[in-house]
Amino acid sequence: MLRFAPSPTGDMHIGNLRVAVLNYIYSQKTHQPLTIRIEDTDKARNIEGKDREILEILALFGITYDQLMYQSDNLKRHQAMALQLLHLKRAFNCFCDETTLDAKREDAINTKQPYRYDGACENLSDEVTIDNPRPFTVRIKKPIAAIEFTDIIKGNRHFEPDDIDSFIILREDKHPTYNFACAVDDMLSDISIVIRGEDHMSNTPKQIAIRQALGYMKEIQYAHLPIILGDNGKKMSKRDNASSVKWLLSEGYLPSALINYLVLLGNNTPKEIFTVHEAIEFFELDKISKSPAKFDIDKLRFINREHLKMIDDLELSRYVGFADSDIGKVCKIYLEEASTTKELKAKIGAIFASKTACGDYSEMVEHIRHALVHAPHLESFKALQSYVSEQTGLKGKDFFKSIRLLLTGAEHGPELGVLYPLLKNYLMEIIK
Ligand code: GLU
Repeated sequence: MLRFAPSPTGDMHIGNLRVAVLNYIYSQKTHQPLTIRIEDTDKARNIEGKDREILEILALFGITYDQLMYQSDNLKRHQAMALQLLHLKRAFNCFCDETTLDAKREDAINTKQPYRYDGACENLSDEVTIDNPRPFTVRIKKPIAAIEFTDIIKGNRHFEPDDIDSFIILREDKHPTYNFACAVDDMLSDISIVIRGEDHMSNTPKQIAIRQALGYMKEIQYAHLPIILGDNGKKMSKRDNASSVKWLLSEGYLPSALINYLVLLGNNTPKEIFTVHEAIEFFELDKISKSPAKFDIDKLRFINREHLKMIDDLELSRYVGFADSDIGKVCKIYLEEASTTKELKAKIGAIFASKTACGDYSEMVEHIRHALVHAPHLESFKALQSYVSEQTGLKGKDFFKSIRLLLTGAEHGPELGVLYPLLKNYLMEIIK
């Protein structure tokens, strides 16, 4: 079983989408089910409706799954596991309040020591504990031995007990912390491999420690994906437009192209342009580079163009508001200068827009328009050219510039001899 575990706390980030895509591909490749776990235990950060938005994005990308769960539904199980750890004396009630803990953290900073929980409540007797009226958290005891694991991408990792520390598993309100809920749910869902972002690497030993303390013997494998860097060489932040999946979709990047790009990112693939089905065939986790990958929008544009070329003409026309394979063909011609469906829409929009301000050519454009309104059916651009020249006397640059403005709304662009036959049935609409 694999899982994708998004938090409904904001717009889906490109890094989250990569985690979802790779979990999906790996689950398909290895014929294992995939669970979507909405990690909604941090009530203060949850945003209403973000869970549905995440599921809609997954559907758009064709990411199917076998099970959907909400982490908060497991609250009773999290609490039961915490009770079990208390019973086993592998966890303890901690009465230290925030002010005391903050002061100790401050001391650590002043003495340039890493802060570690000092064990103040670790060995309180049951009598003292039961008599204490103050609110308390539940902390797991730091492990006795170091935790080691081999990450499929990052290699061997070693964490000393002090690095893991005695950390909180249930907050004062008796709701689980992220690490506890996550470790327990991975165990209860019988997860075999966790594929997630490298920002979670420091959580992994804590999650392993929790399961070890609970006596869970099965080894869960880990593959931590390197972070994605933005143009400035820093981790892509939420403020970068290109980091938002919603933004990329609204800019006209195709889900198939985004999947292609995200699989390609920092990876060694047998080819550059591929479908998700091909990716399922060749994908190997251990081919992914250990080092961060740089997000390159120009590369994404190139890949998007290649995917647009692969779309059937009729289907492509639907992206720009038509259902006509000729318009799909026009779009393909415009792929010389457009890379997204939004840009194609703008090109097709300009063809059908009323052409009013044509600068120096306004008068000539009007002249041609007038001639064409009464024209017979003109099958080819050559036929149109001789008819218009005869009617208006316009030739050379004057004719070509004006007719291009009238037919396409632009001064430059693809060859009119190729475009016109595809647009001729719309001539009256175009010159209106
Ligand atoms: N909910 C976490 C996140 O969205 C992911 C946790 C995990 O994959 O373990 O970053």
